[in-house]
Amino acid sequence: MKSLKNNNKLTRRNFIKKSLFGTGVLINTGKYFQVKEKNIVSKDVEMKYRILGKSGLKVSEIGLGRLEMQGENVLDYALDRGINYIDTPHEYIQGEEDRMLRIKKRRDKVVIASLLVTSHTSTKQETMKLIENILKRMQTDYVDIAIIYNVGSVIRKYGITQHIERLKNENVIEAINQAKKEGKVRALGISSHGRDFMDYMNYAIDSGHFDMLMLKYNFMSFPDEKELLRKAKQNNVGSVAIKVVGGANDQKIKGYEKSRTPEFRRAAIKWVLSNPDITNLVIRMPTFEEVDNCIRALDEKYGYNDRILLEKYASSVKPYYCRWCSTCTQACPYGVSIPDIQRYLMYFTNFEYKKEAVEKYADLLPEQKANYCSDCSAPCENKCPNNIHIKEILTEAHEILSVKTV
Ligand code: SF4
Ligand code: SF4
Repeated sequence: MKSLKNNNKLTRRNFIKKSLFGTGVLINTGKYFQVKEKNIVSKDVEMKYRILGKSGLKVSEIGLGRLEMQGENVLDYALDRGINYIDTPHEYIQGEEDRMLRIKKRRDKVVIASLLVTSHTSTKQETMKLIENILKRMQTDYVDIAIIYNVGSVIRKYGITQHIERLKNENVIEAINQAKKEGKVRALGISSHGRDFMDYMNYAIDSGHFDMLMLKYNFMSFPDEKELLRKAKQNNVGSVAIKVVGGANDQKIKGYEKSRTPEFRRAAIKWVLSNPDITNLVIRMPTFEEVDNCIRALDEKYGYNDRILLEKYASSVKPYYCRWCSTCTQACPYGVSIPDIQRYLMYFTNFEYKKEAVEKYADLLPEQKANYCSDCSAPCENKCPNNIHIKEILTEAHEILSVKTV
């Protein structure tokens, strides 16, 4: 196992040293140095908490996503600031052992959500084994929330080809119920990014087996999502929002490259949390500044300036940002996975998750790929309420994502 020291390339101290040569003002508060940046000051802002549906778990309104930190101290800092919800990836990420060791020191104060990769054929025994593997990897006796991973996507390397059937697999439900009795799992959730994700979420609520939904929700979401969240709340099912800043598509918009300001991110956070039907949100906070900035949003009300900022961004990215509404998919004679492919392209070009994007594209069935788009008359485009140039984008995506190696 790597030493913690070796991983502390960007420590709080180094960060502060860097700030001294920038615009920051350094204040020594004892345990931590507080940096007063021009735009980012949040030391006095208290974390707020909401209850995650029938699980009864008290979770911070802002949670940590993906555990990708630039410096291990960022994690300690985020936890000290009151963030207690941690979303962990389904596969190993570099530096994970060190991060889990840090979490272990305050395990009872942290809510860990972990992804469970079950299929429609998983047996009870296989599911129990998956849970044990997670506990071992996370160095913990229990995970707070086991979330059935990515319903709606074909994931060949795990033999996943079915969607709603995964949720209907009673072996999985039985295994979760047993794990709950044994104190190994406290709650069951679902994550879905597939084009029919609303169907899966609705099923999860109606089934009564699920305690929470993890779903994309941001200021560009389509209205149906609000109804879904209301229904979840009425059924005492928690809702955790992901992808809250709307895809980082600004990189494509000329003259709008600087929209990812701290103010923009706070406005996006405030928009999500202004909906009382949402329990909390998960966002990447790789740096101390990001932690401070996100927490600062809790002290501000979503207001006129935020709305203008978000509306300006939304109208700029309108022909580029797929809302996953699936309105267009019926118009495609081949059954191309139009929203999924745009999502994978976004992972590749905007988030730099190149390998993941290529793997996900490779996992699509042949007819779901954009093989035919370049020669197609594109009947799908008339159906898109956002005037997305589907043919052009998918043709580009096919070229980029069809590479053999990254
Ligand atoms: S352009 Fe592509 S997605 Fe659109 S209808 Fe043609 S094949 Fe389907
Ligand atoms: S391309 Fe347009 S119609 Fe199709 S899913 Fe995306 S936003 Fe909806």
